Amino acid sequence: MNDAVQYEQNEIDKFDNLAHEWWDVNGQFKTLHHINPTRLLFITKEIDLRDKSVIDIGCGGGILTESIAKLGASVTGIDLAPRSIQIAKLHLHESRLNINYECTDIETLANSASNHYNILTCMEMLEHVPEPELIIKNCAKLLSPGGVAFFSTINRNLKSYLLDIIAAEYILKIIPQGTHEYKKFIKPSELCQMLIRNGFTISKIAGISYNPLTHISDLKPNVDTNYILSCRKI
Ligand code: SAH
Repeated sequence: MNDAVQYEQNEIDKFDNLAHEWWDVNGQFKTLHHINPTRLLFITKEIDLRDKSVIDIGCGGGILTESIAKLGASVTGIDLAPRSIQIAKLHLHESRLNINYECTDIETLANSASNHYNILTCMEMLEHVPEPELIIKNCAKLLSPGGVAFFSTINRNLKSYLLDIIAAEYILKIIPQGTHEYKKFIKPSELCQMLIRNGFTISKIAGISYNPLTHISDLKPNVDTNYILSCRKI
């Protein structure tokens, strides 16, 4: 595993230090709880999760992972933050779901489980890694041919800077300060190019809206801030 490029310890620590908050729906990760049904809607509009083999990359405390398992998929979640994985495992006692959580990196997993999964999800994670294309390359390796991957991240422009960093972190304080770095945001065109270079065809893309006052989130055509896309491994 090449530590220098695959992940940054400070990014992992940011989440690990808040791991106890993962399942507090009013806590530091509340926006992830609020947008989760929207992400799930995008996924289920495209595929039936029942009996599928799913890998969730950068699963954190398991917010999305659990909702996928509830729909009948067999799910593995990986994350490099040990306390987050511990919390994810503990929460299974409450949810009574059967999920395989591992604290490992994607490259190690891709070497032992290539072509293994029908579906891959990687949500709000690419904007926290130094080389997103390395993650995408390993995502391609994990999926079986014809497998479908879902990615969500944040566009890079003035509007996303103002809304996702200035407003969300400093004015409304709905996510912890320092969560996001502007330069790590990814334009949809950049993400699509990385995916195509690594053997994917793009299927659909949508924006994710979120109203911090009402907590209402939905899919929208405009991808200028947070967005989600699906693609298929050729
Ligand atoms: N996907 C989850 C959590 C998003 S937060 C959700 O949307 O609900 C981002 C997560 O990515 C954190 O849990 C963090 O620990 C993890 N992460 C960051 N860099 C990573 C890397 N290189 N490999 C694996 N996980 C990583």
